[in-house]
Amino acid sequence: GGTVRFEDVRFSYDAGREILKGISFEVPAGRTVAIVGPSGAGKSTLSRLLFRFYDVSGGRITIDGQDLREVSQESLRAAIGMVPQDTVLFNDTIAYNIRYGRPAASEAEVEEAARLARIDGFIRATPKGFKTEVGERGLKLSGGEKQRVAIARTLLKAPPILVLDEATSALDSHTEKEIQDALDRVSEGRTTLVIAHRLSTVVSADEILVLADGKVAERGCHAELLAKG
Ligand code: ADP
Ligand code: ADP
Repeated sequence: GGTVRFEDVRFSYDAGREILKGISFEVPAGRTVAIVGPSGAGKSTLSRLLFRFYDVSGGRITIDGQDLREVSQESLRAAIGMVPQDTVLFNDTIAYNIRYGRPAASEAEVEEAARLARIDGFIRATPKGFKTEVGERGLKLSGGEKQRVAIARTLLKAPPILVLDEATSALDSHTEKEIQDALDRVSEGRTTLVIAHRLSTVVSADEILVLADGKVAERGCHAELLAKG
């Protein structure tokens, strides 16, 4: 399972401006759909609606045919995993941070997730940047490493539906490639919605929607969109 459908979805944060103006698409179970578009187009709003941080103002969102408004918060949290742009880490070991999404996971499962995300070299370390009674301590993680901790956490949780918010633009190309590889592993076989900033990072998506001003301006696979210019 895990088919996600947006049906003529409309949304305003307040009575004023409409942010999403009738968005329709489907992510069939196990497939990947990418949303690209300029800043302010409504990409993050769309993912917030999927998590039901807000309810749609018009139209509907369904998972396997069930209206999101009829799905409990618990099932929604179990069904959807998020790899956010910026990961907040707890003042504990990397292993603890990976385990956070699934406290009952075995040590071996945590290690396997870390290996797949390529952070197995330092899972016993604690991230730096926390003020404790003994002062600052721990390991300084780069943005890319932090994101791979988030990827490992999601791998361990193994939700049927994934939302990937890509923030690879500020990273060097080697780190970007490592993250891309890890994201590819995490999304394999799952229903995946990728929020991306550039077409170049979503080459393998089954469908790409170009969002502009709250509407779908273009849609197609990577080659089709390139051909359109
Ligand atoms: P994107 O992710 O494509 O950059 P967003 O979904 O973040 O776009 O934002 C779309 C529009 O909604 C923007 O004009 C933004 O200013 C507005 N917006 C985002 N969050 C809020 C909010 N909490 N309240 C009011 N307006 C918001
Ligand atoms: P986890 O780390 O396993 O995702 P959290 O308690 O952090 O657990 O989050 C629970 C759920 O909240 C996630 O599975 C996801 O559905 C949602 N969520 C978490 N972080 C974000 C985020 N940055 N943006 C949107 N939704 C989020």
